[in-house]
Amino acid sequence: MPDLYIDGEWTAASTGSRRDVINPFDASVVAAVDEAGVAEADRAVRAARRAFDQGGWSQGPTRRRADILYRVSQLLLRDREDIARTETLDTGKTLTEARIDVEDVSNAFRYYAEIADKDGGRVLDVGPDVLSRVVHQPVGVCALIAPWNYPLLQASWKVAPALAAGNTFVLKPSEVTPLSTIRMIRLIEEAGAPPGVANLVLGPGSVGAALTEHPDVDLVSFTGGLATGRRIMQAAAAGVKKIALELGGKNPNVVFDDADFAAASDYALDAAFLHSGQVCSAGSRLIVQSGIHDRFLERLVERASRIRLGDGLDPQTESGPLSSAGHRTKVEGYLETALGEGARLMTGGSRPDDPALARGFFLEPTVFADCTRTMRIVQEEVFGPVVTVERFDTEDEALELANDTRYGLAGGVWTGDASRAQRFANRMRHGTVWINDFHPYVPQAEWGGFGRSGIGRELGPSGLREYQEAKHIYQNLAPAPSGWFKG
Ligand code: NAD
Repeated sequence: MPDLYIDGEWTAASTGSRRDVINPFDASVVAAVDEAGVAEADRAVRAARRAFDQGGWSQGPTRRRADILYRVSQLLLRDREDIARTETLDTGKTLTEARIDVEDVSNAFRYYAEIADKDGGRVLDVGPDVLSRVVHQPVGVCALIAPWNYPLLQASWKVAPALAAGNTFVLKPSEVTPLSTIRMIRLIEEAGAPPGVANLVLGPGSVGAALTEHPDVDLVSFTGGLATGRRIMQAAAAGVKKIALELGGKNPNVVFDDADFAAASDYALDAAFLHSGQVCSAGSRLIVQSGIHDRFLERLVERASRIRLGDGLDPQTESGPLSSAGHRTKVEGYLETALGEGARLMTGGSRPDDPALARGFFLEPTVFADCTRTMRIVQEEVFGPVVTVERFDTEDEALELANDTRYGLAGGVWTGDASRAQRFANRMRHGTVWINDFHPYVPQAEWGGFGRSGIGRELGPSGLREYQEAKHIYQNLAPAPSGWFKG
């Protein structure tokens, strides 16, 4: 079956072009998929435009859209195991994590099904002879562009609210990890989305660029790297398209002396090494108070060196490979940089020597101590299994370090002092702050970043608003001449 989905038909590329999908565990070919070109991107946008403009979907009953979203959430649970395996083969992440991803994706669809028809707009008290209301309507045709680290999850945070609001879309997953997204689109089709509402094109950045530049696209929602985000913003400027950008992060994890040592040191591992650190909100910048710094570092290094790397399908595996050979090379470049900057390598720093892992794109969990705020390894997003450790003495100093980033996606603070926890969290310039925890998110709460971590928010009510235009409808109930012009 072909892999592109345009106007309700599964179709191949006109060029016949296909791309191998690689399992990062052993570099084997998992599948080959059809690859779109600019012609398919154009066809998909035009189909989405027609479906939107016909109005059956965009102006139809919200309940109908909500029902489809709810069905998708159920179908995802039905196929959870299969989809999770696909995600593991595609990304290298552990099956346990992939299963959680599918459940979270199902939850996102259910959440937007639940809130889709709860907003009746606002009626304004303007006066007795006026009916004035503000309603929220779909933006139009959306280009949705997703990354490779959480392929299904990141796509769902766009697809579910876009559909709930009544938009039509063209989705382009990362060329590195398209498989689970194909599955999701099949489920959306099975759930009853009409032709042209949901469209899928696969391919490299040039296909994404064709979507971004297309005159019939009204909104571009992108999750990915900072450099690509900048290009998308520039391209969108020409057509003054609406944009939503979820970009990178360099996320502080601050641990005070009075924190629960066992919990904080355990979560410091999760924060840094979950999915080999290929998480936009990874706690890759650990900032520890002097009183416990040495003991904390020792525990972190000891446990990081024992993380079991392997095949994501093996239940014994705790962490998988990096997503691609090219990405590993990029992360290795940062290891060199860190050493050159004077960071002290405590563990890791190279490829594992286990022959069973030799064909995969593995890198050992790596801890650098003696790090300082001006180092590139401390400031730039590495997106690999690498954590830097800094030391602080006072709360003010900790806050300065925690906010010392051009990003601002997420951060954690660990302390036994409840008032300090709130005080500190309030002053952190990050879109999500965890207190005595790291990484949890819920579909009801907004996700997104301050600063260069992006523009707009996904999830929560704001995640729906990204896909809506506010419209003021003002009706004069007692029309009479205004008499403004006298002649
Ligand atoms: P990337 O920017 O390389 O690619 C993301 C997507 O954009 C891919 O589908 C790619 O094909 C496409 N693309 C590339 N060039 C394009 C162009 N000129 N126009 C349109 N589309 C184009 O990012 P990546 O390497 O896939 O993902 C990793 C990055 O994503 C990291 O920086 C990470 O922090 C970020 N990320 C952020 C969040 C968040 O919620 N803020 C979540 C996940 C990942």
